[in-house]
Amino acid sequence: MTQDLPALPPGSMIGILGGGQLGRMLSLAASKLGMRTHIFCPDPNSPAFEVTPHRTVAAYDDEAALAAFADAVDVITYEFENVPSATAEFLAARKPLRPGANALAVSQDRLAEKGFLASKNIPVAPHRTVETLAGLEAAIDALGLPAVLKTTRLGYDGKGQRVLRDRADAAAAFAELEPKPLVLEAFVPFDKEISVVVARNLSGEVRAFDAAENVHRHHILFTSTVPADIPPGVEKHAAMLAKVIVVALDYVGVLGVEFFVIPGDRPSLMVNEIAPRVHNSGHWTEAVCLTDQFEQHIRAVLGWPLGDPTRMADVVMENLVGDEVLIVPGELDGNTQPHLYGKTEIRPGRKMGHINRITRR
Ligand code: AMP
Repeated sequence: MTQDLPALPPGSMIGILGGGQLGRMLSLAASKLGMRTHIFCPDPNSPAFEVTPHRTVAAYDDEAALAAFADAVDVITYEFENVPSATAEFLAARKPLRPGANALAVSQDRLAEKGFLASKNIPVAPHRTVETLAGLEAAIDALGLPAVLKTTRLGYDGKGQRVLRDRADAAAAFAELEPKPLVLEAFVPFDKEISVVVARNLSGEVRAFDAAENVHRHHILFTSTVPADIPPGVEKHAAMLAKVIVVALDYVGVLGVEFFVIPGDRPSLMVNEIAPRVHNSGHWTEAVCLTDQFEQHIRAVLGWPLGDPTRMADVVMENLVGDEVLIVPGELDGNTQPHLYGKTEIRPGRKMGHINRITRR
């Protein structure tokens, strides 16, 4: 159970696993609260290394490096959900790991995630575990077509999945996707995708940000628009489900929940996936909320009271992918707030930064 542990004071050292843009933005938010951060990442060119002098460049299974990292910090968090479970357990035995290893175990594996959500009566897409080609055929019989075949682990930004429109697609998709087992999901007839970023702290306080309406392009998040164009009851329901999830996980930190909105007289919700970290669809919070998702995560991890997530304006967050980053600074005006990640190499499909555009004050 959650305990009322003492809050960590300014000057504390927060260890962050992962050195991408999320780690960088967490580090910046921590600095604002007078904290120091130590980034652990195998890639020597990590963008997060630019914003703090404390770093470890080592593999996630390098136990000597992990032990030294744990010794150097007061608390440990992470910016990505694929932290190996052995790494999480090794670190959690030495220093508080927030969110805990259970959140990683559930969110790293689509089947574990769906099983967990279903056990809390949270709707997920009808699905079947697929271990063999014959199993895939049987799953297609059960769920119908179209359907989406996905890896259970290591999928992100649309990687590790194939839409099956006809039976003839099945064998090739099954052969291509690794590792096994796979999961076949019924195709969800959604008309929108939304997400809710929610936070829970050590004393069990829970606050959710407003829902964002998300549009993807080439499987990568393109825009998050807030407010989402959904009935107020649907937004309240999404926030309630997000809260159920963080309470059920005894979670500490910020968590992103992605939903499908299924049209109907009363639109209904299904959870697509959860991410135990700050979330790309929450980047708008830095422009328009009293407390943004990065500060909220750091507060939770430190054992501090949560901040007020109230939204002060309407906003559209747009990701700058690949050479789209080159529009900055040319296209900025008084209603735009850019955030660039300091990545030196532009590559197609690489998230280079984002812009928050205020649409109504
Ligand atoms: P995921 O990697 O699971 O987040 O999926 C990436 C995107 O593929 C989602 O944001 C949806 O747009 C689409 N998608 C995933 N699963 C399904 C599904 N079962 N039915 C319809 N579309 C899906």
